[in-house]
Amino acid sequence: MSYRCRICQSPVLPFMSFGRMPIANAFLRSKAEFETEYFYELKPALCPVCKCFQIVEIPRPEQMFHDHYAYFASTSAVMSRHFAAMAEDLKKRYMTGPDCFVTEIGSNDGITLQNFARDKTRHLGIEPSANVAEAARAKGVQTLNAFFGVETAKQIVAEHGNADLFIATNTMHHIEDINAVAAGVDILLKPTGVMIQEDPYLGDMVEDCAYDQVYAEHMYIWSITALNNAFGRHGLEVFHVEHNDHHGGCMRYHLGRKGQRPSSPELAAALAKEQQLGLDRAETYVRFKQRCEESRDRLMSLIDGYKKQGKRVAGYGATAKSATVINWCGITPGHLDWIQDSTPAKQNTFAPGSHIPVVAPEHFRANPPDAAVLFAWNHFKEIDAKEVAWRKAGGKWIMPVRKVEVV
Ligand SMILES: [Zn+2]
Repeated sequence: MSYRCRICQSPVLPFMSFGRMPIANAFLRSKAEFETEYFYELKPALCPVCKCFQIVEIPRPEQMFHDHYAYFASTSAVMSRHFAAMAEDLKKRYMTGPDCFVTEIGSNDGITLQNFARDKTRHLGIEPSANVAEAARAKGVQTLNAFFGVETAKQIVAEHGNADLFIATNTMHHIEDINAVAAGVDILLKPTGVMIQEDPYLGDMVEDCAYDQVYAEHMYIWSITALNNAFGRHGLEVFHVEHNDHHGGCMRYHLGRKGQRPSSPELAAALAKEQQLGLDRAETYVRFKQRCEESRDRLMSLIDGYKKQGKRVAGYGATAKSATVINWCGITPGHLDWIQDSTPAKQNTFAPGSHIPVVAPEHFRANPPDAAVLFAWNHFKEIDAKEVAWRKAGGKWIMPVRKVEVV
């Protein structure tokens, strides 16, 4: 099987396989669904030419984004505050002219645009999921229920004019045709317009060996180098970056038309760090594969250690990224009795691939395990504070990726 880079069409070779994977958010409602469960092979590659980190085989979109997959971003208070702060910063930086117009792809339930709608700034969200788009409109956020590309961009320009700002947060890692989006951005933006992208950063994933960022819905993990190459094909370039710790490490990229804005010292420093990490070099990923194998062996030996002593181990947080850890490491219902999750839609289901039962938090309280694998490790501080009683009674966390350890 030969593969081509989805950005530049160069031949690419996967540097490893995480094996047979289910769709990360495809929780099974009954045992009858086990037999027809859908699997694909999770194989990442680095394009040797444009340096884009990508999954070479992806399930068809209808397998991934079905009706059950209704994620409402605003349910997270932390993320609501994060995007409110971002909106205020962007207003000051880029929305100072008269009658400014802001657009957002994958605008979800209006978590970001509501901060512009509130002070009557002209805005338009572009959201392909109908029920999520409806939730945004109910908040007074203008939303077009569509996929974004060249045609949608032309339609928006005809109806509203060119945009000062185009925002894409946690979106560009799951859009297959990046060239179509970039061509659309080129049409949509004013000559001085700016694009803001923010999503999990390849530098953090490689540095920390946080391989659970890799799953089908994250078909790309972006770096500055790769984004510059992808958008450079459409006349755009990164001129500034800001790093934050959400989701285990995100980068916010500021892009403008080539030569339009001076590049910042922060960009130069972050590019130097990318060089130092070797994000553009094949040998970095040979080593990454070895580190993933070591991480898996260490996690399984920690879980097995508890099981051999007859102790009870459970999972905490049936996150999308837990599917990669569970299925790559071979974690079964024999290892974890259940996984607790606070999302009602996931409760009383079976985790994809492993079929470990997913239960409500009350089950955790009623049947406290000796140790819990913290799949939602990026929320460690909040969760650890919430489970203080269990911790005082001797409960231990097993950290599944990055530094794999008992805490
Ligand atoms: Zn490429």
